[in-house]
Amino acid sequence: MESVRAARKVPLLDLRAQHEKIGDQIREALDRVVGSQQFILGPEVEALEQEIAAYCNCRFAVGVSSGTDALIASLTAVGVGPEDEVITTPFTFFATAGAVMRLGARVVFVDINERDFNIDARLIPRAVTPKTKAIIPVHLFGQAADMDPILKIGEGHGLAIIEDAAQAIGSEYRGERAGGLGLAGCFSFFPSKNLGGFGDGGLITTNDEALAQKLRIIRNQGANPKYYHKVVGGNFRLDAIQAAVLRVKLNYLEEWTERRRANAGYYSKRLLELGLTHECVMPPPIVRERHVFNQYVIRAHNRDALRNFLLENGVTTEIYYPLALHMQECLNDGRFSPGDFPVSEKAASEVLALPIYPELSLEDKEYVAALIRDFYLNEPDTIDR
Ligand SMILES: *Cc1c(COP(=O)(O)O)cnc(C)c1O
Repeated sequence: MESVRAARKVPLLDLRAQHEKIGDQIREALDRVVGSQQFILGPEVEALEQEIAAYCNCRFAVGVSSGTDALIASLTAVGVGPEDEVITTPFTFFATAGAVMRLGARVVFVDINERDFNIDARLIPRAVTPKTKAIIPVHLFGQAADMDPILKIGEGHGLAIIEDAAQAIGSEYRGERAGGLGLAGCFSFFPSKNLGGFGDGGLITTNDEALAQKLRIIRNQGANPKYYHKVVGGNFRLDAIQAAVLRVKLNYLEEWTERRRANAGYYSKRLLELGLTHECVMPPPIVRERHVFNQYVIRAHNRDALRNFLLENGVTTEIYYPLALHMQECLNDGRFSPGDFPVSEKAASEVLALPIYPELSLEDKEYVAALIRDFYLNEPDTIDR
């Protein structure tokens, strides 16, 4: 399709725009690490741990090599292994379930609710069995799952609640920050997360001192003291270089988060003003304070055509996630069929993430919203309505 519009490019994420403003401070921090020649754990990692613990309103934080390893280390620390079952949602990034499988345990899925894409707490009790060891609620896209009923179920059955907060740093549930709600909170510093490093990184928050101590041992091959191994851990350590970069960025996280929230507010208001009904697009409902919008995910009628139309006009979007986990080849050992988790499957066919990064300009946002209006209202050939 030939576009008549001025060529504007709006990427899904523009990390260069972020780096332009803080490059000097980052280089200074990197120089500090290079000068020290201390590359693994050490003072930069310890300082980051303290700063993030404070940010998340938690007593302890343990830096690790990735969000995936944060999940694996946490599940290891609470003793999840073969024969055990762990409950989570099929509408999440693969790592949530992959971490459970890596430990030889069985993933038990519970569908999401229609509203916020998070696990439907009302469905959890019927999934609990004597083998259940933990529940992993995921705060998907940056909005907290409904933690109170989940914590209650955990208490009632003696289950560990491990938050997958990879997309939700700074997000809140009834005034408490993500990561401080369950027994442990798992964070990722993958570059596209709200707090992203210069590569892979992750962190676990907890208010449980014994658990924090265990996690420090597990991330370092299970050694305690050095060269004496009572448990099998892994090399789950965080690099000092990553910690130094993240410490600079953490100073800006609140500002960036507020900009993401403002961008989200703009889109949602604009889509409404443009006369787009819920039969065309549905903006993400905000059911909790505080949604930190790692992604701004709409539900869209004729989603794939809308995505193509946006791409043809210079706007990059993404589908998180196109295939619910119970339908993934490595996960479906014959236990699952299409239709088993209908709300997740419906979401997988409707969701579309729009550019939401903090540096987005007003013109960018207006352009994206106007394109969406054009797609539904001015391009009758492209929709089957
Ligand atoms: C990013 C992410 C992870 C994994 O984090 P990595 O740092 O990439 O290993 C886990 N769960 C969710 C929900 C994520 O978004």
